[in-house]
Amino acid sequence: MNRNLERLTDRKFDILVIGGGIHGAITAWDAALRGLSVGLIERGDFGSGTSQNSLKIIHGGLRYLQDGNLSRIRTMARERATWMRIAPHLIHPLTCVVPTTQKISRSRLAMSFALRANDMLSFDRNYMADPQKNLLEGMIVSQRELSRILPGYDVSTSTGGAVWYDAQIHNSERLLLEFITSAVDAGAEVANYVEAISFLQMDQRVVGVRAKDTRTGQIFDIQSKMVINCTGAWLNGLLEKTALQSEYATSVAMNVIVDQVWSQVAVGLTSQPVNGMPPQVLFIVPWRNKSMIGTHHIPWPDSPHTFKLKEPMVQGFLDQINSAHPALKLSLEDVRHVNWGFLPVHKADAHKRPVRLTRDGVVIDHQKSHGISGLVSILGVKYTTARVVAEQAMDLAVNQLGVKTNKCQTHTTQVRGGKIDDFGAFLRRALHKAPRVVNERSTEHLVYTYGSEYQKLVDCVLRQPDLARRIDSPLPVTAVEVEHAVHHEMALTLADVIGRRTELGSTGLPSMATLQKCASLMSSELQWSPEHQQEEINAVIQTYPFNQAETITA
Ligand SMILES: Cc1cc2nc3c(=O)[nH]c(=O)nc-3n(C[C@H](O)[C@H](O)[C@H](O)COP(=O)(O)OP(=O)(O)OC[C@H]3O[C@@H](n4cnc5c(N)ncnc54)[C@H](O)[C@@H]3O)c2cc1C
Repeated sequence: MNRNLERLTDRKFDILVIGGGIHGAITAWDAALRGLSVGLIERGDFGSGTSQNSLKIIHGGLRYLQDGNLSRIRTMARERATWMRIAPHLIHPLTCVVPTTQKISRSRLAMSFALRANDMLSFDRNYMADPQKNLLEGMIVSQRELSRILPGYDVSTSTGGAVWYDAQIHNSERLLLEFITSAVDAGAEVANYVEAISFLQMDQRVVGVRAKDTRTGQIFDIQSKMVINCTGAWLNGLLEKTALQSEYATSVAMNVIVDQVWSQVAVGLTSQPVNGMPPQVLFIVPWRNKSMIGTHHIPWPDSPHTFKLKEPMVQGFLDQINSAHPALKLSLEDVRHVNWGFLPVHKADAHKRPVRLTRDGVVIDHQKSHGISGLVSILGVKYTTARVVAEQAMDLAVNQLGVKTNKCQTHTTQVRGGKIDDFGAFLRRALHKAPRVVNERSTEHLVYTYGSEYQKLVDCVLRQPDLARRIDSPLPVTAVEVEHAVHHEMALTLADVIGRRTELGSTGLPSMATLQKCASLMSSELQWSPEHQQEEINAVIQTYPFNQAETITA
């Protein structure tokens, strides 16, 4: 995958996707698989917007039972199965538990009905060949069992627990990249660090975009019959340049990463009313050797450009977490990292607290709403449903293009590294045949990260054994991944490699030694001066607002 901006300007695309978040990435893949010519531009790096910040859960929809919206639950359960089929190396079953209480809606009886309904609505969840992806039926456990599952948690007000199974993304940044590289495999032209600054218009029709290479400042035009605007929270900024309005605004959502609370299960605990916030279910999710806790929502009626994360916002969230599990006693010093991003709300709800997110992803047909043809916008609210929202947007775009194409194939096509029918067997085979230079832990890590493509990295290590060396002591990331990111995955900055090509930055700011090692590996590939290396390191540090001093000197 090479960044070649000339290839964006030397043709007229059928579809140009703006925004390389999860919705844009899947839309580009979908369009390319339908046989259309496709371009995708992303202002920063692929996945560097909201998509980098999710709680990594592919929801089956259990929580939506309380709304009684069965079709939404069916969609989510179906999508969960689809994700596990098309990206089996990156999506894995996750055990979840919530304590049951005396409250009727949370009682053992009510939760037992909910679990039964959940099982029925996802009746086809195990219709796939891979036994590793089997999701067992939900069950109610006793109070004693709950205290065994959740050591340190005060179970005295609980009557037991409800256990069910969902799925977790092992590495959401790499998952997103799999869609980008799969789109490229299917013929798409993609480029990061290219911003759409305005739409090109002929009368009432959008015919492309004026774009800027954000690394050089160069301005150029990209022609396309249809433009799909997947800019997430920045949707309005771009629409307003064409005097268009949407009925949506943004809110902020955040997770915190702290030292490990529980290692095997995701746990939903209800907070008490604190700081004027009503009780809310917060999930404590196992995340590598740490825990990720989310999700906290903050109204943000202003432009997303003006949002700055401040300590009191994080403290407010910690107060909520501590009210749900007082033994944690979390303070700002315990926070290893804060993931935050934007989620859509209706403009009318923009100031409301608690935040009322739009329920489902939205596809905006600007021909219908504004009389402007050639432009469709997507506003997604969940990683889980991104594939299906992209499919809807592409169905609409194909209809407007008036051409005959292949049908949507994203639900049946495995992504680039996903050509694995039985993950457990694939991993066992990989471990069995691993060469001595790549040890067991590294092999396992490569399979979980690159799936069926892992052998390419092993081959690279066999040619250049020094690339097998670890970059960071607690994490199994090796030098070959940095080399691969620069040569094959369009990584241009240290932040791209630390934050989105490898898992080095996924649990907090890496040590200074790790940053230096990584920067030095990249500089021999990209000819960075010592000053430039330092600038790259500083830029990474900027993205970790909390706990810097401690982790840097660690
Ligand atoms: C804290 C948090 C936790 C979450 N947890 C979960 C979860 O557990 N499960 C789940 O299913 N969902 C979850 N979500 C929701 C999910 O992450 C989002 O719905 C999804 O990532 C949004 O993707 P997107 O592609 O629409 O937006 P983005 O990822 O923001 O992508 C939009 C992209 O467009 C680019 N862009 C903007 N303007 C321009 C321009 N002019 N030119 C070019 N590019 C441009 C941006 O740089 C950005 O990369 C969570 C979200 C948050 C914030």
